[in-house]
This record gives sequence, C-alpha cells and structure tokens, in this order.
Amino acid sequence: MTVETILSLLERSAVARSKSDWKQLEQISIQILRVIFKDREIDEKNLRSIIQNYLSSIVGTGEFLTDLTSREISTYQVGLNKLLEFLEKSPHQFSSIQPTLHAAQEIALLALNPINANRNKIGKHLREIARPDLSIVICKQILERTRLNYYSLTVLCGAYCDLNEFDTAIAVADLALKHSPDDGKTYPLNALVRAHTLKFKATGDISEIEKALEYGHTSLDLKLDSYAANAFVAAAVASGDEREIDFAKETLAKAEPQLREVDISALFQTYQAAQALAPGSVVVETIDESIDYEYFKILDSLFDLVIRDEGFFPTVSDLRNMKERFASGGWFLQGLCHVPCPNCEVIALHSYRKHFRRYGKGMHYWALVCDNCKTATDSIDIDKNVFSFISGDLEDNFPVSQLCPECT
Ligand SMILES: [Zn+2]
Ligand SMILES: [Zn+2]
Repeated sequence: MTVETILSLLERSAVARSKSDWKQLEQISIQILRVIFKDREIDEKNLRSIIQNYLSSIVGTGEFLTDLTSREISTYQVGLNKLLEFLEKSPHQFSSIQPTLHAAQEIALLALNPINANRNKIGKHLREIARPDLSIVICKQILERTRLNYYSLTVLCGAYCDLNEFDTAIAVADLALKHSPDDGKTYPLNALVRAHTLKFKATGDISEIEKALEYGHTSLDLKLDSYAANAFVAAAVASGDEREIDFAKETLAKAEPQLREVDISALFQTYQAAQALAPGSVVVETIDESIDYEYFKILDSLFDLVIRDEGFFPTVSDLRNMKERFASGGWFLQGLCHVPCPNCEVIALHSYRKHFRRYGKGMHYWALVCDNCKTATDSIDIDKNVFSFISGDLEDNFPVSQLCPECT
C-alpha cells in the first residue's frame, strides 16, 4: 500500500470523527494500523493521530466515564489491550506516542474509582487522546458541585483551546485565576498564556499576544519552571518581538539548566523558521503540567479542601470545637447548594461532610462553606426551617450515602 492510501484513510477518519461516528472511526483506524504494520514507512505525526483516532473510537460515547452509575468499562479495556498487544508486535519505534498510551491506560485505571480528583485527571487525559468534547462534559460535571474548582477550570480551558473555542477558554481560565490560591495561580496563568497565544495565531489581533506576554511575565515572576517557560517561549516566538525572544531564551536556560546555549539557539531557530513558514500553526510543542502534585496530594481536612477547590481560607467562629473538627481529616465535598446563603443571599454555599459513628450508626458532620462570605460553619446557627431547605436540596442532588467513602 502507498502513503496516499494512508492519507486518504486519514481523511475518512476525520470525516467519521466530525460526525462522532465512533464505530466507523474504529474500523478505519484498525484498517490503517494493519496497513502500517506491513508498511514500515510511517510519519510519526500521522502515527500519533492514528493512535488517537483509535483510542477516541473505543471511548465512543464515553458513558463509562460520564455516567457515574455505569462502570461498564470492559469494551474500552478490551480495545486498549488489543492496541497494546498490536504495538508490542509492531516493528516500529513508537517513543513519540508514549504520552498518548500512558493517558489511555490511566483513563482505564482511574475510571474504576470515580472520585473527583480522579475524574479531574481523566478530564486531562481525554485531551491527550483527542476527546476534548468528553473532557468538557466531565469538567462541567465536577463544576456543578463546586463552582470554583480551579483545577477543573484549567483543564476546561485547555479543552476549549483544542476545539478552537478561544473566547470560552479564556473566560474559564480568567475565572480559575480569580479563585485560585496564590500558590496555584501559575496553572491558570500558563493556561491564559497559551489561550491568548492561540487566539492571536487564529485572529492576528495584536492585543491578544500582548496579553499572552503579560500573563507570561506574571507567571514567570511567581514560579520559574519548564511549563511556564515553554508557554512563554511559544508566546514570544509568535510575537516576533526580539526583546521578548531574548528574554524567552534566558528563561528557558534557567528553567532547563541541562540545555546548552547552542541547543537553545538551535531550538529557537527551528521555532522561528516554522513560525515564518506557517504563522497560524502551533510551532512550540506544549509541555503540559502532567499532574499538579500540590492539588492531588491527599489532604482532606476541611481547610485543605476549601483552599484547594475554592482558593481561600474560611473564617470559622470559635464555637463548638468547629476549628478543631474542620482541621481534622476525612472531609469530602457533597456539592454546591441551590439555596442561597442565609447571610449574603448568593448561591455560594458548598457543603462538605465527614463520616462518624455514634450508637453503631454511620452519621455525617456538616460544614457549610460560603465562598462569597468566605466563612465555614457547622450549620447549628442557621434557622431550622432554612436549614431544612438547604439539607433537602443537597440530599436530593448529592445523596450523601452515595458520596461518602466510608458508606459506599
Ligand atoms: Zn454567604
Ligand atoms: Zn458515611
């Protein structure tokens, strides 16, 4: 078979993808894999798309990821195993597709335990296998429970960028930036650098690249690492501004001290040449924050969770051992209440619960956190009738017995 055949099959894949015809995409992808197995010539970039197409197709409608009551993951698992077996026998060197395969395997593992932190990671990995559409569904499901989860918002920004919906991407990253704690601000900042750079490339609007560079400088001032440096390099190269490009070179040298000066010069020459050739294309490979370890480490005092998800330290009155109880571990998010906060009348009350046992029975402590008042309370001071509306609304939407890790 010839390369033309592969290219025409890839075109048919794109059509199937645009129609969300996952069965068709699966069949075409298998056909291409068979062809390249025999034919040793294959372009690395095309190969990555072929693998992504196949993985996208076996995810299909993705109900095993979006419907929490369905844990029917066997079809995906079987399809993934087939691919891995195939690749093991294959004569090709596949190093460039490792991140994609890793993401696919992580999805299978994480789907078995769909707690929020794992679903956030699934959302991120779905982008790697070219299913930003499902990534958006999952991030939105998480955000229904907490309107200020900055990690989900950052993933959501990336997914909208994948779909070229830059204005929506920028709006959600702005929201994440507003609500993230100081040590978490670099994530939404880097996301904004990338989104504004891509929007500039798509529209040619100079103000977009100015914003990208400004956010880039702010991010680098907060924390210099390879993610921030890489996002800034992409913006600087796109801008064509020599001063910014020189600064980007210096930054990259600091962030990646293992790189020699000649390597950095060569890298920039490649970037700038590619940029001149095709100004609209992505010329700097994105380095993704693979995992925000701060975000995912196991810390489940109420204060940890509120800082992590909502970005502030709540005020607590010195009553009924609340401070001590809220500082202990074992809390989990129940969800966002649709009844307004009795104090400020904004819909901003997040309920957190903690399992405990009394008289042989499992019960759950309350912590109601208003992200507008920035307070947390055990709810005892809230009027009984008002509280019954609040607890009823939460139980209807987020039944605690289904959420509590001790009860399930
Ligand atoms: Zn309030
Ligand atoms: Zn429980």
